[in-house]
Amino acid sequence: MPFARLGLSPALVHAVREHGFTAPTPIQAAAIPVILQGRDVRAQAQTGSGKTAAFALPLLQAVRPAEKPRRLRALVLVPTRELAAQVGEVLRDVCEHIAEPPKVVVAVGGVSINPQMLRLRGGADIVIATPGRLLDLVDHNALKLADVATLVLDEADRLLDLGFVDELDRILALLPPQRQNLCFSATFPPAVQKLTDALLRDPARIEI
Ligand code: AMP
Repeated sequence: MPFARLGLSPALVHAVREHGFTAPTPIQAAAIPVILQGRDVRAQAQTGSGKTAAFALPLLQAVRPAEKPRRLRALVLVPTRELAAQVGEVLRDVCEHIAEPPKVVVAVGGVSINPQMLRLRGGADIVIATPGRLLDLVDHNALKLADVATLVLDEADRLLDLGFVDELDRILALLPPQRQNLCFSATFPPAVQKLTDALLRDPARIEI
């Protein structure tokens, strides 16, 4: 199944090719069409499966065309700085191959908040963040979550393992109730299952 058959726009299909991917991985082939339909997704997928592009490409399509002023329309929550950097790199790299690309901002803890606040001036279309730093930015009025249309939890099991449950609860309460939720996790132990049961509405279930 080529990328062009998954429902991606010609501009994104071109950008993916330029990014260096010729054919979708199984998780991409399964997830991209249902995400583009607007459905919630519960995906069991390991690192290395290609899960990043599986959610990143539909997010890029969803935030097109570019809007001014920019509004935060897609939020990706990740457990670690390293993962945030990886996801940001994939998004930014694909963006290099599209006209009028969305603004993607990575915001993680453990580093000064000021450069992140500066980056967020004038808004962002997509933010990739660790939960604690995201809340710090909201508390500093650097970021508003009221327009988020799609939430991604990447490596949900690690988000819970690292003790982010209270932060997640606070963030979920700040998001608009009408939104698409995508949950990617390598494992679904009871705590992750409970989270996804509360979060996802009639999700497409994907296991790779
Ligand atoms: P991920 O599971 O998202 O961390 O991706 C794992 C690795 O697979 C990364 O190095 C990606 O660049 C690569 N990858 C993801 N999707 C594809 C694809 N469709 N074709 C070739 N490589 C891919």
